[in-house]
Amino acid sequence: MKIGVSYFGNRILEHVETDMNLLKTVGFDFVVHTYSENDFEFYEKTMHDIVKISKNNGLEVWLDPWGLGGFFGGEAYSSWIMKYPKICQIDSIFEKVPAACPNNEKFKMLIKTWIKSAAKSDTDFVFWDEPHFYQHFSKSGLWCCRCPSCIKKFKGKYNTKFPLKKSSRVEFFKKESIIDFLSFVTDTAEKEGLRNAVCILPEAEESFLTKIASLPGLEILATDPYGILFGKPLKDYVKNETRKLKRAADKFGKKFQIWTQAFKVPRDKHKEVIDAMDIPLGLGADSIAVWGYKACKHISSISSESPDELWGMIEEWVMKNEEK
Ligand SMILES: [Zn+2]
Repeated sequence: MKIGVSYFGNRILEHVETDMNLLKTVGFDFVVHTYSENDFEFYEKTMHDIVKISKNNGLEVWLDPWGLGGFFGGEAYSSWIMKYPKICQIDSIFEKVPAACPNNEKFKMLIKTWIKSAAKSDTDFVFWDEPHFYQHFSKSGLWCCRCPSCIKKFKGKYNTKFPLKKSSRVEFFKKESIIDFLSFVTDTAEKEGLRNAVCILPEAEESFLTKIASLPGLEILATDPYGILFGKPLKDYVKNETRKLKRAADKFGKKFQIWTQAFKVPRDKHKEVIDAMDIPLGLGADSIAVWGYKACKHISSISSESPDELWGMIEEWVMKNEEK
């Protein structure tokens, strides 16, 4: 079993060196570096150096398309959606939302340029994290997407007009659109010599996870059951999500990975977080990963309440379990 952690918020190479060295010493096997649009535009060579430093310290390296187009998860803004407004999703009252549509060809071409840069960095994996249609609506009842690309694709698939009201067919179409997009990005990355992991938000239908597991370019299927964030009883939540993910991954002989919430964790939940890390370990997960480095001490919007204490407990867990 491999253990990993996400790393972001620092582009100063001397500090990266120190931190990567620490991760390796503690017993981590891989590091997930976020590679946002901002990084791609202003820090490309620096990011490539960060990959190199991480590898030189003996870590496997993953790059995360953090918040790219507002379509992937992450605390990062998209400039593509302003530079290329036609890539944006359109909601059910015909207004643009700040997120790109996975059915838009221009967005796919932009992702392709990012993949090429990722490949140039010599990273091992690309971590396609939390692909999703826009959902942060200020009014209830709104949904995405009915952009021209979706309307065209829907007509081509079902030979009928895109419905004005949300229906089960629209829901199915949206899931198929995410799968088609992931098929495109994983194939493209694989052709560039990269390995692929996809992380799907928890509470996904098993049939959806199974279809993603079937993607030929996919090596690792992941989910991030952040039960504390969602106010769920953590142990049961992690257990159920892990079992479901494992069933989907097993059908296609894929590896599976579970993420641990180490952000926004209140002080009284530390033990619960650590105990929950044993669940995927017991259920045979190929890897367990932690979001994120130092329990997110350095990012005030999602920092844990007592990050030093929580990180100390995580380090202990990693040292205890690194040989398993
Ligand atoms: Zn669309």
